[in-house]
Order: sequence, then C-alpha cells, then structure tokens
Amino acid sequence: MTDVLDSLSLHSAPPALRTGPLADAQAQLATAIAALGYEPGLHQLLASPRREMTVSIPLRRDDGSVEVLTGHRVQHNFSRGPAKGGLRYSPTVDLDEVRALAMWMTWKCALLDVPYGGAKGGITIDPRRYSPDELQRVTRRYTTEILPIIGPDKDIPAPDVGTDEQTMAWMMDTYSVSSGYTVPGVVTGKPVSLGGSLGRASATSAGVVHIALAALEHRGLKRSASTAAVQGFGKVGADAALFLTEAGVKVVAVSDQYGGVHHPGGLDIRALQDHVATTGSVVGFPESEALGGEELLVLDVDLLIPAAVEGTLTGANAHHVRAKVVVEGANGPTTSEADRILTEAGVLVVPDILANAGGVIVSYFEWVQSNQAYWWTHAEVDARLETRMLQAWNRLLDVAATRQLTLREAATVTAVERVADAHRTRGLYP
Ligand code: NAD
Repeated sequence: MTDVLDSLSLHSAPPALRTGPLADAQAQLATAIAALGYEPGLHQLLASPRREMTVSIPLRRDDGSVEVLTGHRVQHNFSRGPAKGGLRYSPTVDLDEVRALAMWMTWKCALLDVPYGGAKGGITIDPRRYSPDELQRVTRRYTTEILPIIGPDKDIPAPDVGTDEQTMAWMMDTYSVSSGYTVPGVVTGKPVSLGGSLGRASATSAGVVHIALAALEHRGLKRSASTAAVQGFGKVGADAALFLTEAGVKVVAVSDQYGGVHHPGGLDIRALQDHVATTGSVVGFPESEALGGEELLVLDVDLLIPAAVEGTLTGANAHHVRAKVVVEGANGPTTSEADRILTEAGVLVVPDILANAGGVIVSYFEWVQSNQAYWWTHAEVDARLETRMLQAWNRLLDVAATRQLTLREAATVTAVERVADAHRTRGLYP
C-alpha cells in the first residue's frame, strides 16, 4: 500500500518542461500555487488539461491530390462554465502550444469573471499556402471531427492567429447542418450578418489600448507625450496601433513576420493598413525606414506592445528593452526568463491574460446576444468592454499591492483562486 501511495505522490507534480509556451504557463501556475499554498493534488489538477482531442484532417487539394493535416482541441478546465478559446492555423502549432494557450484561456476567463473555462484549438497548417476553397474544406472536416466536444454549452471556438470571421462562419454552418438547425452560439467572432457582435472584430485591440493607456498613466506618463512600438500587425496589432494613435500616442514602429517599419515622427496607421491590404505586409511602406523585427523590441519608446506570437521577448533580448511599459497583446509573448529580467529592470509588464482579454469579453457578449437573439448597439458593447477591462485593471493593481506581487503573479493568483474555488465548491466526483 505504501508503495502505491509513494508512486502516486511521485506523480503529484506536473512534468517539468524546460522551454516553450507550456513550460512558461506551467511555471506561472507553479508560482501562483506557491503563493496560494495549495496542495500538490490541486496543483496537478489545475496543471492538467481536462480533455484533449487530436484529429487527422484529410484534405483534397484543388489539384486532386490528398494530404493529411493534424488538428487539436484542448479543453483545459471547465469548472466555471463551458470551455472557450480560439482556433489557430499556423505551421508551428503543436499539442504543447495548444495546451499552453488553453490554460491561459482558463485564467483569462476567470480573471475577467466571464463564466467560461479555457480551451484552444489549432491546425498545423500555413494558411497562406492554401486556397480559400481548401481552407473551407479543412475547417469543415476539422469541425466535423471535433463536433462531439464543441457546442454553445460545451466549448465555443473563436478566431486566433491565421483564422478569421469567415472561418467561424464555416464552423457555425458545419455544426448547424449536422444539428439540423442554426446554432449561432457555437462560435464567436462570426460575421455580424450571422449573429456576430458589433465591436467584436476590434475588441481585443480596443481592450489592449484601454489597458495600455491606464498603464501609461499609472507610470506617470502622459499619453500625448508617449511613443509606442507594436510587434505584429494582424487582427490585434493593427487596430491597437490605430486606436493608440487616435488616443494621442505616437506609434513610431510596427512589424510583421516579414519585417518592420519605423518613423520617429509617428506612422500614419490608416495609410499603413491600406498598404498592408494591398501588399500583404508592412514592409516597403513609404515615409518610413526599414527596421528588423528584433530592433523594434529594443527601440527607445515608452510603450511596447508585442502582438504577434508567443516567446518573442526572451532572455536574449529582454536586457535591451528600453520601453517603460510592456502590454502583452499576444498570448505568452514574454518567456519566464524575459519576465524576470524585465521585472528586475523596473519595466511594468501587463500580462496577456488581462491585456488581451477584450476579445473574450466581447465573445462572451456575442454568445449572450446569440443565445438571447437580442442585439446590442456598438456603443453599448464598447462601453461594457471598457468598464470590464478597467474594473479588472483596478482590481489587479489592488491585489498586486496588497500581496506584493508582480502584475502577472497577481493576475494568475486571482484567476487560479477563482478556478480552485469553483472546483472545491462543486466537489470532486465521485
Ligand atoms: P493574426 O494572424 O491576425 O496576426 C499575427 C501578426 O503577427 C501578423 O501580422 C504576422 O505577420 C505577425 N507575426 C507573426 N510572427 C511574427 C514575428 N516573429 N515578428 C513580428 N510579427 C510577427 O493574429 P492575431 O489574431 O492578431 O493574434 C496575435 C496574437 O494575439 C496571438 O498571440 C493571439 O493568440 C493573440 N490574441 C488574439 C486575439 C484575437 O481576438 N484575435 C485575442 C486574444 C489574443
């Protein structure tokens, strides 16, 4: 009997990974567990995904050949409600990345007090190499494969890197056809014509900017005298740059996966968005100088917004970051080592699970609207989003000050405590 107990306790700590987003997510959880004094069994429960599904996606290409892709859906936790999280199409997707992103979704939903658990999906694919018809077939086959575990009361996907509202429309249609009736609440981030919420497309960016402005003020920096650099010029980064300029912050540099552009006098973001719509990249934008992606991260600016992918601020470049405030538009852009370096250097790092939560907040609003078949105005959505973001920001400052924690530690502690409370109150079955 003792042997059995010994072997159980050996398994009580989650497996250690050295690097990568899952290692970072597990390290953040371990720090929160230590601060909360939770027992190993609860730690293991919170460290482990509740459900994972990996599927093969056979695709008939436009030329008639067949190839087989791999997709995942990970539901990390649903103690507080249905699982919620984006769907990513990227050549770098693997199961560990999806696990990390699903765990961060659990904490994000808990921190913002939206009644969801966390999930994430991903397909290992470079969407730029496939036609729209092929992407539609991939999306419909993936949706069919994961159909048993998604639904408006089970798990609700949304767009992420490499996917968009069209992807959500195909998912919604595939799910609805198989159900025999239209089910708008199965996804969020849908086109407005199919029950999407006004304000959802730009909600993540709007939330990033609400928090960035609050963080600048917290550091005693006037927005009208502040400069910013934004890494990533996709769904999150492009509108974040635009909203910052509209709020009076001078955005002097942006980048995408092909390179960056810099203009010390401030970039014309609307003109840059038009340039990207025409050419597919920020590179070559007139009235700017070319800039390497790494150079952007170490520019002498007040505010840095990493809004591309995870792991871009690392132990190798964090020492050179000169921004006073980093607001994480992307999920997991700062490795654990970089986080420590930035904190020691006195940089205010606002963690992803707060900074980019605008998307899931308005996804929640969209789900509520879809389920009630009642639509709110753009102004209502924007006002409710701002209220929720700033309430969470103020609460986070309180927790950080009271418990003497960094903002990331305070955010993770708050979220983990809420999930653990829900789990304990529901009880362990059987
Ligand atoms: P997207 O695919 O629309 O855009 C990603 C952008 O990042 C593109 O401009 C791409 O060229 C650029 N990029 C990729 N690798 C880069 C690199 N190494 N250096 C510089 N730029 C690079 O994706 P998105 O929806 O904007 O998501 C960006 C990040 O925000 C991701 O971490 C995602 O998980 C997170 N996020 C997105 C949402 C949302 O609502 N879309 C919500 C919360 C968090």
